[in-house]
Amino acid sequence: MNIEEKVYEALNNAKLVNEKINAVINFVDPKEQLENLNEGKLYGMPIALKDNISTKGIKTTAASKMLENYVPIYDAFVVKKLKEAGAVTICKTSMDELAMGGTNLTACIGPVLNPYDLKRMSGGSSGGSAALVSSGVVPLALGSDTGDSVRKPASFCGVIGVKPTYGRISRYGVIPYASSLDHVGYFTRNVKTASLTLEVLAGRDDNDMTSSFKEVEEYSKLLNSDIQGKKIAIFKNVIDSLTNQKTKDMFNDLIIKLKEKGATIEEVSFNDDLMKAMLPAYYLISNCEAASNHSNLDGLRFGVQQDGSDTNEIMINSRTKGFGPLIRKRFVIGSYGLFVENQDRLFRQAQKVRRLIVEEVKECLDKYDCLIAPASNDIAPLLDDHSRDELSDHYLIAENHMVIGNFTGYPSMTLPMGFIDKCPIGVNITLKAFDEVNMFNIGLAIEESTGLKDLVAKVI
Ligand code: GLN
Repeated sequence: MNIEEKVYEALNNAKLVNEKINAVINFVDPKEQLENLNEGKLYGMPIALKDNISTKGIKTTAASKMLENYVPIYDAFVVKKLKEAGAVTICKTSMDELAMGGTNLTACIGPVLNPYDLKRMSGGSSGGSAALVSSGVVPLALGSDTGDSVRKPASFCGVIGVKPTYGRISRYGVIPYASSLDHVGYFTRNVKTASLTLEVLAGRDDNDMTSSFKEVEEYSKLLNSDIQGKKIAIFKNVIDSLTNQKTKDMFNDLIIKLKEKGATIEEVSFNDDLMKAMLPAYYLISNCEAASNHSNLDGLRFGVQQDGSDTNEIMINSRTKGFGPLIRKRFVIGSYGLFVENQDRLFRQAQKVRRLIVEEVKECLDKYDCLIAPASNDIAPLLDDHSRDELSDHYLIAENHMVIGNFTGYPSMTLPMGFIDKCPIGVNITLKAFDEVNMFNIGLAIEESTGLKDLVAKVI
């Protein structure tokens, strides 16, 4: 099959799969891209982009009614990089509205269904991208990760989810959520493609002042699964808050295999009060930053405009009709945290909690190469599951610990760990800043240990 046929086959599969799992917001005609194809590292690879990544001349809605007509006049930095590498975008994928959420139930087009079980969630917020890689439509799809939005759906969909170091990939042209936590991330089905992809996406961009000048390494050439002598810390607080024995057993089996490969593995505990404060601190910081970032979505500067008798009423009507209930709730919380009288008590207090958590994790990673834990307590929840207790340790710690990767900015990656009731569940590793070489190498050792590589869920 030549490249053109391969790309059109992927597009066709995306359409068929989409009828089952509702993962796509907008299909992209690949004709022009195929006519201008570059012979780069991803030559002819069909890919999908989360719909908060700006694509010149192609609608970019972030799954929000507010942006349903928004057509960017420029490409995001990562889109330029992908074009230079010869990748071909075939669709824009569904997501939780404005990337806020972990279920993908809040997209304006309805939920993305899990390719392994259509009664379950894909996870979010990058659920459409995770599900398309999982169902074998594309080998690579981009997402964004502010709290765990790549690494959690990766766990639920049985794929690899990578969130590199803060600043490693430019966010220019990615609709923001919370700027101090936002990262570009991506999904693949094996570590090799994951390592190659970072070579393409990483690098300094003057349009994103947080992007790093640090040289981009040749991760795919440096791939090596020898973990003899590597020091790995088991994230004990997470293990203690797991309620699912099958997940614990599966994780223990993996640890035994990694020990057999020569790694030194020990348990490490962090301050439990800090761990329980992690999610509340995250919500405060992210909602405050989101309320500020999205103040321009008012129907005047950006967004679908509603009627009103004056500018104030236009803004109120536009924002009330344009956003779903979860977004409105978060903007209220964020604005409240930013009131002058609340800033010290709430926003800055949350930033202090963040700093204390970062210091604990840094201290741990000064001694160890990597921190490891199951990515979640369980497989993907059922679509109508309302049973979660958001104040339980299990929820606060086991379901949300990957926020640590965003607080610290450290590189973090989820890989398939095993199956429970025929549905996948992942394992997560977090490493020192800019230690992506070790991330892929330890990832490769995990991939070899589990044997879970190139998994495809049969949807069609
Ligand atoms: N679930 C988290 C939230 O709702 C993470 C979102 C993300 O990483 N974009 O904020």
